[in-house]
Amino acid sequence: MTTEQSHDALEGQFERAQKDYADLAARGLSLDLTRGKPAPEQLDLSEALLGLPGDTHTAADGTDVRNYGGLQGLPELREIFAGVLQTPVGQLLALGNSSLELMHDSIVHALLGVLPGSERRWVDEERIAFLCPVPGYDRHFALCERFGIEMIPVAMTPEGPDMDEVERLAAADPAVKGIWCVPKYSNPDGVSYSDETVARLAAMPTAAPDFRIFWDNAYAAHHLTDEPVEIADVLAACADSGNPDRVFVFGSSSKITFAGSGVAFFGSSPANVKWLLANNSKRSIGPDKVNQLRHAQFLRDEAGVRAHMDRQRDLLRPKFDAVQRILEAELGGTGLATWTEPKGGYFVTLRVQDGCAKEVVRRASEAGIVLTPAGATHPYGDDPDDATIRIAPSYPGQEDLEQAMHGLTVCVRLVGIEKQLK
Ligand code: PLP
Repeated sequence: MTTEQSHDALEGQFERAQKDYADLAARGLSLDLTRGKPAPEQLDLSEALLGLPGDTHTAADGTDVRNYGGLQGLPELREIFAGVLQTPVGQLLALGNSSLELMHDSIVHALLGVLPGSERRWVDEERIAFLCPVPGYDRHFALCERFGIEMIPVAMTPEGPDMDEVERLAAADPAVKGIWCVPKYSNPDGVSYSDETVARLAAMPTAAPDFRIFWDNAYAAHHLTDEPVEIADVLAACADSGNPDRVFVFGSSSKITFAGSGVAFFGSSPANVKWLLANNSKRSIGPDKVNQLRHAQFLRDEAGVRAHMDRQRDLLRPKFDAVQRILEAELGGTGLATWTEPKGGYFVTLRVQDGCAKEVVRRASEAGIVLTPAGATHPYGDDPDDATIRIAPSYPGQEDLEQAMHGLTVCVRLVGIEKQLK
């Protein structure tokens, strides 16, 4: 094809895209692909929780769960999640309903108190920085902004964060106090960390003696395929490397049972667990053990969690399949976008041409399809390539999701071809 012919072909594609977009806008849709929330059908899977703990209020060790106390959380629930979160039960705490809250509190306690291995409170440091693998989870970045923690982006690779860069930055700068990690089926690109990445994170020299890995294992049991991904045991790797206090493990049952009324967990070295318990003892006389008991009764054991997650998968899989099918049918081979095919977790990342993500999101919004703001996957809301769009397929019903995905591909075509014509 001559340049002229290919320009004419592009003009033709643009006209079609404009017409498709006008048709889309005329439909008056109101669809939402923003937050990774479980759908009502997923919550229904745990409806039995509402009838528990039934006529008992006694935990396995005789504790009356209605009363104060039990700062570590119920042992039987910690047993169930110890395997899921790869943390010895004695080093795992079962706490409130949100792991994000635990991450928030861990930062606050590190700012206002002295961490094991620390020379002083973080608030007394001139500068504090966290390494932020990108794309990443916007609420991690929001926590850093909230507390004036500088964010240093590090590129993600198919094996986890670019470890050459992580090692270089952590070794060079004592202000670098931490790194955000979503090690399995990461938010948003579904990457799981390789064994080598975990080993290097655990063993790398850090200029800060109180460097912490914030290991947000939010999707530990959230598989979408028959081949569940297993990641290396980071706590053991840190201990084996002589850095036992390096990692804080976070997790929750938010996307296992009820997103708003699950149970959150914190796992770490004995010294860090003691540190958090001491801090927690000032802010609470104990967690909600009634909720913990009903979770233990409902899930029963680790196999119970896995069986429950199979039922979650049955509901989620058709949605993730539809996303792949529609993206492939509408955008495959066009060169206008690439996308991830996650084996678990809650998100698909769509990468459009550089400079197009914001405009795609704006066009979609004008046509009644709300997407996570472009840039939210990066520190300070700034995606330097303006190319990353996070898709959260879980919440809408199947039909709404498929309509939203078709609409999104129309916007990607419209904006992408327009750019190529310029
Ligand atoms: N961490 C990640 C990576 C998430 O994607 C989410 C929710 O989307 C959370 C944490 C929130 O967890 P929780 O409900 O336990 O606060």
